[in-house]
Amino acid sequence: MTTVAAYAAPAAKAPLERTTIERRAVGEFDVLIDVKFAGICHSDIHQVREGWGRANFPMVPGHEIAGVVSEVGPGVTRYAVGDRVGVGCMVDSCRVCDNCKAGLQQYCTNGATMTYNGIGKDGEPTYGGYSQKIVVDENYVVRVPDGLALDEAAPLLCAGITTYSPLNHWNAGPGKKVAVVGLGGLGHVGVKIAHALGAEVTVLSQSLRKKDDGLKLGADHYYATGDPQTFEDLKGTFDIILNTVSAPLDFTAYLSLLRTDGAMVNVGIPEEPVNILLSSVFGNRRTLSSSSIGGIPETQEMLDFCAEHGLGAEIELISADQINEAYERVLASDVRYRFVIDTATI
Ligand SMILES: [Zn+2]
Ligand SMILES: [Zn+2]
Repeated sequence: MTTVAAYAAPAAKAPLERTTIERRAVGEFDVLIDVKFAGICHSDIHQVREGWGRANFPMVPGHEIAGVVSEVGPGVTRYAVGDRVGVGCMVDSCRVCDNCKAGLQQYCTNGATMTYNGIGKDGEPTYGGYSQKIVVDENYVVRVPDGLALDEAAPLLCAGITTYSPLNHWNAGPGKKVAVVGLGGLGHVGVKIAHALGAEVTVLSQSLRKKDDGLKLGADHYYATGDPQTFEDLKGTFDIILNTVSAPLDFTAYLSLLRTDGAMVNVGIPEEPVNILLSSVFGNRRTLSSSSIGGIPETQEMLDFCAEHGLGAEIELISADQINEAYERVLASDVRYRFVIDTATI
């Protein structure tokens, strides 16, 4: 066991504070990672505040982890000391179900082990990346290619794969029209990735406040959803709508923007049930779907793709004592576009 400095929420809705946690000894197939940077994901806030139901405390959030391998177990073959690596939302899964065998560990039918607010196979609670070190089985670690800066790579481990996986699955690419709803932590990466995939990209945001940013990030068009005319002008336009907003939307209105066989994929998950009129999917064989992060092989593919395209997250680097303030700013949509904690400051 190693004692490690971390930032934790001691109880639901409590501010995060500096503490120490124990990391397990490095096992046969484990790597010890010196965490360098950890992104702040909106879902960290949902979980600290129990927006998604009962959670485990103390909680050390953080599932956008980038760092450097500092020790490997004797059975480790894929990584060596000094390698630049990342860890996303999962640190284990059953490995034997059909989904695990297919590399879709995020849909493990026996339940993947989440990076934090989960229980590991050793029965101990899992603690995330707001900490200086983490021990992870090598099969749940990905490589950060040399072309990517570690701080800009960290948010790709959740925001990147969460947007890449559905864009990939629903075949975003040349000749396809993709709308990204919301230009926040997820949305800004989604715009970059959809653009790099070769799609024609439209941002649908409440106002035109971030229009210049959106166009710079790679969007071809930018519309305000606060203007009802947008829904008239864009009726039947898109092959894919990637919704990154976790507040409930008027799904019926958004679905009307899809062309025949178009898909609206929701990666922002509201805390409450939503209402839709099924007639809004019925008429044009539209799909309303959702997607959860991505498997380990696809996460590696995403990082390689981002490195090839020189694509990282737009970040605001903060010190650990700014985490609570950063949470408030995320809730107020006052971040461009992802807070990343410099874990040396913990
Ligand atoms: Zn996340
Ligand atoms: Zn499984």
